[in-house]
Amino acid sequence: MKITLTKQKKQKPDYKNLGFGKYFTDHMLVMTYSDGKWNEPEIVPYADFSMDPCTNVLHYGQGIFEGLKAYKDADGKITMFRPYDNMRRMNKSAERLSMPTFDGEKMVECIKELVLIDSDWIPTDPGTALYIRPTMIANDKALGVHAAHNYIFYVILSPVGSYYAHGLAPTKIMIEEEYVRAPLGGTGECKCMGNYAASLLAGELANKKGYDQVLWLDGKDRKYIEEVGAMNIFFVIDGVVITPALVGSILHGITRRSTIEVLEKAGYKVEERRISVDEVVKAQKEGRLNESFGTGTAAVISPVGVLHYKGEDLIVNNNEMGPISRYAYDTITGIQNGRLPDEFGWVYRCN
Ligand SMILES: *Cc1c(COP(=O)(O)O)cnc(C)c1O
Repeated sequence: MKITLTKQKKQKPDYKNLGFGKYFTDHMLVMTYSDGKWNEPEIVPYADFSMDPCTNVLHYGQGIFEGLKAYKDADGKITMFRPYDNMRRMNKSAERLSMPTFDGEKMVECIKELVLIDSDWIPTDPGTALYIRPTMIANDKALGVHAAHNYIFYVILSPVGSYYAHGLAPTKIMIEEEYVRAPLGGTGECKCMGNYAASLLAGELANKKGYDQVLWLDGKDRKYIEEVGAMNIFFVIDGVVITPALVGSILHGITRRSTIEVLEKAGYKVEERRISVDEVVKAQKEGRLNESFGTGTAAVISPVGVLHYKGEDLIVNNNEMGPISRYAYDTITGIQNGRLPDEFGWVYRCN
């Protein structure tokens, strides 16, 4: 891989106030696709792209991305969490969007090189990490609606703090009754750009009413629970952990899968099945909804304190983080930052 180092290193941000996705490191990885094949990846100084205004990703959104994190412990050991799973999922997204697939194992090696080059950007305070954003975009100069022949794959790195400004405080979630995120047969399973654009309006309306996020229902009956904007959702009812089954419109979250494995190993009963909003509301009214939480790379585990449905605020676990949410959070973050042994083989060592 060709590596061109920057001549002018950027100033580091205040690591106590990182927020999410606001600062980017000195370098990025770029790999182009042309004449039916991927060209050699390169590491170059972080810089703007120059694009013709007719470039097709800017019109039709043929673009996909991923999100994963790297960590550095007190001894300087650098790791990534389940990176092969992200590359597998990105290749699935690529197939769905008629984009070329790539060698995921080789890409993990390339990302490792990039992370090591910018390793002085990895924050080490609790709750912080280096967020890795692999992205692939169509890059034909043409307005015709068809799959592109040219693509850019790039990876950028961002030191991040907690995803939500309020950290681990429980979130207020509005169950969305009007808009839907993804119908069966659509692109709900992919991390593709258009999914997020289509979700913004409902999110903005919920924010205006004082809620942090929306919880989507299925696109057909608006009856079954799907997921939150960038998180999968879990409920604990009568001590049983329940999360919606991956029916085709729900993102296959890697944190979701990790949470299921961690909780099952600890002896909890976990069910992946269809769960209706009525079942959740009924359980809450009868005092049987013990906990609810979201899972995703950005926030890891995010407890839900309020669920809003049909004009009513339903309070979950006294608006506090519950014991199962806490256990999942402590265990997964413990494995990620090396405080706990990696019993599942999830940690990829960079150095
Ligand atoms: C990324 C994402 C998730 C969480 O997936 P992780 O692999 O756990 O980060 C859940 N839902 C949506 C819509 C997402 O984009």
